[in-house]
Amino acid sequence: MAKPQTNVAVLGSTGSIGRSTLEVVEASGGRLAVIALSAFANVDLLVEQARQFRPRWVVAADPATARTIDRSALPPECELLAGPESLAFVSAQPEVDVVLTAIVGSAGLPATWAALEAGKTVALANKETLVMAGGLATRLAAERGATILPVDSEHSAVFQALKAGRREEVRRVVLTASGGPFRNFTLEQLAGVTIADALAHPTWTMGRKITIDSATMMNKALEIIEARWLFDLRADQIGVVVHPQSVVHSMVEYVDGSVMAQLSPPDMKLPIQYALTYPERVEGPAARFDWSQAHKLEFYPPDFDRFPALELGLEAARAGGTVGCVLNAANEAAVAQFLAGEIRFIDIVPACRSVVDHHTFEPNPTTARLIELDRWAREEIRSWICH
Ligand code: NAD
Ligand code: MG
Repeated sequence: MAKPQTNVAVLGSTGSIGRSTLEVVEASGGRLAVIALSAFANVDLLVEQARQFRPRWVVAADPATARTIDRSALPPECELLAGPESLAFVSAQPEVDVVLTAIVGSAGLPATWAALEAGKTVALANKETLVMAGGLATRLAAERGATILPVDSEHSAVFQALKAGRREEVRRVVLTASGGPFRNFTLEQLAGVTIADALAHPTWTMGRKITIDSATMMNKALEIIEARWLFDLRADQIGVVVHPQSVVHSMVEYVDGSVMAQLSPPDMKLPIQYALTYPERVEGPAARFDWSQAHKLEFYPPDFDRFPALELGLEAARAGGTVGCVLNAANEAAVAQFLAGEIRFIDIVPACRSVVDHHTFEPNPTTARLIELDRWAREEIRSWICH
């Protein structure tokens, strides 16, 4: 019997993860279908995608750019929706089977939240949701019977490696990090990094924000927090190892010393597809190894002095409560300031540290409090920069 089609809402379809997701859908031979697409600014690409994939809904999250869309360019069966609240609307529609959240930053939270509230399967690329509100989001998922499947390659690897043993047999999880473009830079060299240097990642092609996060290693800090909530781990069960080849995507160490790793060439189409077809594995468009070639895998301990973001990630995983939200907002604001040429590369993490240290910690914040703190942390970054 033919498999039923899985209807995927692709939120952030014009971004790096969004475009890879559409390649996976296209290669699925009809097993996956696009039911909704969304974008913020790049509406030309959004319209092109709508013409190819013919979704039921097309969301232009920015109302101003939505007005620039020529409706007659869209297929007649597509309904055009505008504004951020439309993202939450499509996420909760009964025809949607999986919501793939590939919006960057805290802007991805409301739609992810709506999908969890509606009890959907969420293929989560937007790690910022768990960094900001991991405790509340995982509780909501459990209450509503929603499932969160990781798209982040490290977490997909852990998710796969966890299948090798029982939960109580897990000793720790080891997240791999490429180390970014400045893996071997001295502190002096880091002081001279330009925007172009920081945007040139050695192994992955990604959106601008996550590329900067990879260069500061804040991405790994956010992933530590993401792992803490996704897999219900203690901070002392999460380690980081630098692995420049980005082939081992992460590992699970069991109590007997056995380490299970997941390997594949660096290509996000694999973890995206696994989240969309889970629990099945199917043929797909992701890059494969050429075993006729020699491969070298290296592992190094991370340097917490040159990459102090890592300590912030561990602290946020340890403390929980409001720390992740404040760290995430401070980082988003600081990265935006760096990309605008207003602060130096080496100011990003100390700015985040200062904001985290100055906030009033609360162990069990409400969503309303998190929204307030998110705003507060962004303003703090602005005033930190004016000093
Ligand atoms: P990107 O910048 O390439 O794309 C972001 C998408 O979000 C675009 O479609 C954009 O239109 C949309 N968007 C931006 N601001 C928005 C707003 N305010 N409201 C609604 N939509 C908005 O980003 P990306 O690299 O694809 O990353 C997306 C998410 O996936 C991030 O959370 C990132 O951390 C995560 N992720 C990315 C990768 C990767 O390889 N790129 C890997 C793992 C996880
Ligand atoms: Mg990752």
